[in-house]
Amino acid sequence: MIPWEKRAEEMVEKQIRARGILSERVLEAMRSVPRHLFLPEHLRESAWIDSPLPIGEEQTMSQPYMAAKMTELLAPEEGDSVLEIGTGSGYQSAVLCSMGAKVTSIERIAPLAERARETLSSLGYDVSVLWSDGREKGELAGEFQGVIVTAAAPALEAWWSEALAPGGRLVAPVTVLSGSERLLLREKKAPGEYVDTWHDYCRFVPLLQGRTGGYC
Ligand code: SAH
Repeated sequence: MIPWEKRAEEMVEKQIRARGILSERVLEAMRSVPRHLFLPEHLRESAWIDSPLPIGEEQTMSQPYMAAKMTELLAPEEGDSVLEIGTGSGYQSAVLCSMGAKVTSIERIAPLAERARETLSSLGYDVSVLWSDGREKGELAGEFQGVIVTAAAPALEAWWSEALAPGGRLVAPVTVLSGSERLLLREKKAPGEYVDTWHDYCRFVPLLQGRTGGYC
């Protein structure tokens, strides 16, 4: 069996660096996180392929390149507070955490939130996973240097931009045509003052309303 570190290295070179992601910090994060351990056991062998993968509850973990691209756009610095909407498997949270970000992640499906919490803590990633609808602010307080949305949003929720600290960055797949999204990077220059730029086209599972699936 090929050791996972070798497969991670190959994934980084062929799928990520070859497509133009050159930030060494991002490449190192993508090499260091054991992506296979965020998948159901029967899919672990497929962890390193160039594709999104199912994680149960009709949800998916993003393709490696897409996770890397969003991380590059978000550009988290050591010690930054980052908010993720759409924990899923917890993989993207682990990538950000491995770069030194303090990550809070919101998931609406209870069994996914629970599993992500277990996986992250068993691997030593200190991430706070909340079971909630990330379209709403709820009880969440404080400012974030980064906000990353990993489900397709018809539009940005106002509170995501408001929760950004000045100088902060928001990355989200925003629906541009029915069934097609495009990555939007929003940089906050000052309260109410933003610079938006559009990046890769992509496909994400939809951002849905309300939390579901029991208690956690
Ligand atoms: N970042 C994840 C993949 C995300 S898949 C990973 O690395 O594995 C998108 C996730 O967003 C799904 O788990 C879905 O349940 C969740 N989601 C969808 N709408 C949501 C909402 N309104 N609030 C919080 N999570 C949501």
